[in-house]
Amino acid sequence: MGGSFAGLLAARVLSDHADEVVVVEQDDLALEGNGSGAPHRQQLHALLSMGHAQLERWFPGITEELIGAGARLGTGFQVQFYLDGVLKPPLAHSRMMGATRTLLESHVRGRVLALPNVVLCRGRAGGLAFEGSRVCGVRFTSEDSLSPTTAVSDGMDADLVVDAMGRSSRLGAWLEERGWSAPPLERMRVDLGYATAAFHRGDELPDTVIAHSAPGPASGYQPTVCEPGALASVEGNRWTVVLAGYTDHRPGRDQDEFRARMRRCVAPLREVAERCSMDGDVRTFHFRDSQRRNFALLDRFPGGLVAVGDSVASVNPIYGQGLTLAALQASALSAYLRTGAPLRDVAWGYFRRAGVVVNAAWQVSATADLAQPHVTGPYPRGYRLIRWAGDKIAEASVIDPLVNSAFMDVVHMQRHPRALTRPSLLLEVARVMLGR
Ligand SMILES: Cc1cc2nc3c(=O)[nH]c(=O)nc-3n(C[C@H](O)[C@H](O)[C@H](O)COP(=O)(O)OP(=O)(O)OC[C@H]3O[C@@H](n4cnc5c(N)ncnc54)[C@H](O)[C@@H]3O)c2cc1C
Repeated sequence: MGGSFAGLLAARVLSDHADEVVVVEQDDLALEGNGSGAPHRQQLHALLSMGHAQLERWFPGITEELIGAGARLGTGFQVQFYLDGVLKPPLAHSRMMGATRTLLESHVRGRVLALPNVVLCRGRAGGLAFEGSRVCGVRFTSEDSLSPTTAVSDGMDADLVVDAMGRSSRLGAWLEERGWSAPPLERMRVDLGYATAAFHRGDELPDTVIAHSAPGPASGYQPTVCEPGALASVEGNRWTVVLAGYTDHRPGRDQDEFRARMRRCVAPLREVAERCSMDGDVRTFHFRDSQRRNFALLDRFPGGLVAVGDSVASVNPIYGQGLTLAALQASALSAYLRTGAPLRDVAWGYFRRAGVVVNAAWQVSATADLAQPHVTGPYPRGYRLIRWAGDKIAEASVIDPLVNSAFMDVVHMQRHPRALTRPSLLLEVARVMLGR
C-alpha cells in the first residue's frame, strides 16, 4: 500500500521472495513533474552516502543510469559541508547524488516495474482483511486511470501486506477498528519551514555537486553566522537550492527575499544568488513535527503485516535521512525474509531490525533538534551529557579530518551514532580541542 520511494524499495525486495507483488498507489506518480505530486516531493531531496549505496545494492547500475539522465555524482571535495560558515575537511569516501527526487524516483519506479513479478495497481487502500490473528489481504478502491470517475471497491488476497502510505498512514486506525492496538506515536514539535527554488546552471562552481550549510555549536545552532541551506547540482543544468528556518524565521515564497537570504549563506549559495537566474517559483513547505510509530512497544500485532518508510518514522528533513531510512528498512525486510520466518507469524524480527535504523535516525535528528530553544522534548536519557559531547565532536570535526570522517559516517547513516562514543575517537576529540 503506497508506491512512492519506500513502497517501491519494499516491492523490489519482495520480488525476490514472492510469486507476485502488487503495488497499490492512489496517485499517478508517473505523471509527476514540476508543479504536481505531493508538495514534499518538490523540495530538494539529498540522498546520503548510505542511501546511495543501498540504491546500488538493489538496482545495480542505477548510478550510471541517473548520470546518463543528467544527474551528477559528487565525491570527495565536490561534496561540501559547512558548519557555522566554515568548510569541513573533504571526505574521500562520500558519494552523494545531485538529482531531483522526481528523477531519482522515476528511475527506481522504472526498474521496479520492469521486474516480471511486480505490477502497479492504481487505487486507494481503504482497510485490511483479516483471517484469525493475521492479515490476509487489502481492501481498496481501484481507479480506472482512463475514466477517474469509475471507482470500483475491490479486495485482494495477500500473504504479506506492507504499509508504505507515508506519514499520514491510517494503519493504526484500521488496526483499532478490528480490536488491535495502534502502534504508539511519538512526536517532536520542530516547526520547520522549507523553501526550494531552481536556478539555471552555467559554468559557475564546476567542482560543486552538493553544498550544505548548517549552524553549529559556535553560533548556538542559530542562523547568526550564516543561513542554513543547501544546493545540489541536478539534471537539466539546474541548481536546486533549499533554505530552511524555524518558527518565525521560516523562509517565504518571495523571490527577492529568497535571493537575499542566499546572500547571507555560505560561498556556493552566494555565488548562485549572484550569477544565476531563477527558474520557476519558490516552493515552501511547513514541517510541523518529527514522528515515529513504535511497533516494537506493542504486545500483540497481526501476522502478515509490516510497515516501511514515513509510515514508521518521518524525521526532520533537514538531515536528509528519509529516503535512506526507507532503503535501510527495505534491507531489513530482506534480511528478515531470508530467515525463512513464516509470513503468517508476527514479523517481530523485521520490526526489531528496522527499529535499529529508525532509532539511530531519530537519535541523530532529535538530539540536534533539541538544541533549538523552541523544541521542548521529549528528551532522551542522559541528554545533557550527549549534548555536551556532541558539541565537542562537532567542533572538532571542523578542524580534524579523522573526527570529521567518523562524524560524517553517522550523518550519512553509514555508522550507528554509538560509534561516536568510541574511546579512541573521544581521545582524538579531546586532543584536537586541547590543541585549539
Ligand atoms: C520538505 C521535505 C524535504 C525532504 N528532504 C529529504 C531529503 O533531502 N532527503 C531524504 O532522504 N528525505 C527527505 N525528506 C523525507 C522524504 O521525503 C520521505 O522520507 C519519503 O518521501 C518517504 O517515502 P514514503 O514512500 O515512505 O512516503 P511518501 O513519499 O509520503 O509516499 C507515500 C505514498 O503512499 C501513497 N498513499 C497514501 N495513502 C494511500 C492509500 N490509502 N492507498 C494507496 N496509496 C496511498 C501516496 O500517494 C504516496 O505516493 C524530505 C521530506 C520533506 C517533507
